[in-house]
Amino acid sequence: MEQFIVSARKYRPATFDMVVGQTAITSTLKNAIRNNILAQAFLFTGPRGVGKTTCARIMAKTINCLNPSPEMEACDKCESCVSFRNSASFNIHELDAASNNSVDDIRALVDQVRIPPQVGKYKIYIIDEVHMLSSAAFNAFLKTLEEPPSYAKFILATTEKHKIIPTILSRCQIFDFKRITVDDIVQHLHYVAQKENVEAEHDALNIIAQKADGALRDALSIFDQMVSFSGSSISYKNVIDNLNVLDYDYYFSMTADMLQSNTTGVLLRLNEIIDNGFDGQHFVTGLGSHLRNLLVSKDPATTSLLETSQSLRDRYANQAAFCNSAFLLKALEIQNQCDLNYARSSSKRLLVEIAMLQICGITKPAPSDDHKTPAPLAAAPATPQVNVAAPSVPVAKSTAPANVAHAVQATPNPAPLIRSNPTGSATVIQKENVAQAVVKPKTGMFSINAALEAAEKKDEVPVVLESSFSKTDLNHFWNSFAQTHKESSPSFALALLKYEPEISSDYVIRFKVDNNLLLADKLKMNALLDFLKNNLSNTLITLDPVLVEAPVDKEAYTDREKFEKMAAHRPMLRLFKDELGLEAEI
Ligand SMILES: [Zn+2]
Repeated sequence: MEQFIVSARKYRPATFDMVVGQTAITSTLKNAIRNNILAQAFLFTGPRGVGKTTCARIMAKTINCLNPSPEMEACDKCESCVSFRNSASFNIHELDAASNNSVDDIRALVDQVRIPPQVGKYKIYIIDEVHMLSSAAFNAFLKTLEEPPSYAKFILATTEKHKIIPTILSRCQIFDFKRITVDDIVQHLHYVAQKENVEAEHDALNIIAQKADGALRDALSIFDQMVSFSGSSISYKNVIDNLNVLDYDYYFSMTADMLQSNTTGVLLRLNEIIDNGFDGQHFVTGLGSHLRNLLVSKDPATTSLLETSQSLRDRYANQAAFCNSAFLLKALEIQNQCDLNYARSSSKRLLVEIAMLQICGITKPAPSDDHKTPAPLAAAPATPQVNVAAPSVPVAKSTAPANVAHAVQATPNPAPLIRSNPTGSATVIQKENVAQAVVKPKTGMFSINAALEAAEKKDEVPVVLESSFSKTDLNHFWNSFAQTHKESSPSFALALLKYEPEISSDYVIRFKVDNNLLLADKLKMNALLDFLKNNLSNTLITLDPVLVEAPVDKEAYTDREKFEKMAAHRPMLRLFKDELGLEAEI
């Protein structure tokens, strides 16, 4: 019977080019070899199973190769390469620090360093899991690392860089190995499957890759496991049955039910999942990733964060089109809460069921004006919400202008909403609904609710207010605006108070000014306009200033003129003159 070799060993890369998913590192190493600028010590760090030891071995082989290719790959034919391949080389020493971490182990290694290589140029010492060395061993090693013979190269590998003492770190050239992407792993699994004459469905390999969480070695051992279970054909169904993975379909149909508030469907499906032997929390965390993937799919810029196959990507994009961000955020919040509470809940199934029902409830229109309840969701994302009077709009208390004025002061810039209306189509609401346009000041901490509301606001249609107002109303607010500006800009306030404003047709407010400077102050004029719009609850108001000539203050020359001028200020004078029959020769 043919001896079984695990795939991770059988398909261990022999050259830099075959290393999966670490192109940045392999090309740097090749360049360093080509230019002969090799450091004395290297530190390879990164998660397990991503190719640290493999790269260390390839490097050891390549720098000793007698006949390397122009691309700086080992020839695999020369004496040195052959002995490497047969694990018979005297130039490579591997020490697993996990099991050999004593001072004596390191001393034995240091003793070997003194002997120069017999064949080839370099002696390479690979110390795996170097963070496991005892501190005494580290110290014993430090001296050698500081002044190594020119033919000695050290490659230290670790999954936990933070445990390496700084004196060691500072003497090494550090390479950070990344988790291998799902796509890269899938590609490699396809290659291995082809070599092994195993037929494998793409989605099956995708599940394996995701389960491996960035570690190629783990992916290959899962692959081996699947081959031994299902022979020469690996199907998606086999894999999810064997790996205790919940089918994507469950999440897609569950989410579809939630969007339609189909509580029956959700509960039955949850029952089915639990009946199939899945743990409730397993399902909840899976749902979290599903919702997250939907959220990520909404924006083309973030779809790159999806580590899935193209077909699955399309499915996510399709479903994401049917849910708005507010729904997804709220659902994630509920899911997260359920996940947190799961461990300490005494009735775990009920907890999950409640959470699922809550998510179903998100899409239902709320009966009251509770601002925490998200708005009814439109099925298609392109449809903006036109119903301004929906309960999602924060509601202020009163329609009376005086009270509204109070609310307005709390929100410093309740800009006329019509200006930001991009489509030009606005809903006109009458006086009864006027107060809804006034944003109630929010209290409390920042929470996801705030994010939800912000998301909802995007869908809001700007409001046009069109209340009629009387001359008295206008005068009242005109004067109060002038009064509040008396301190800060007295000339402006006085100019406003000099002439009474008038309502001409269609909410045009006409007023006289005798000074061009006043009109030039756009900032104040706009502030006046906004103030009137807000307080008179009418966003259609416009200002129509009329420049008039100021009455010229003529100099009084004659006695009569002097008297007239004085009398204009003091009417008693005229009375005095008439009563006494005086003449104007004063
Ligand atoms: Zn060679």
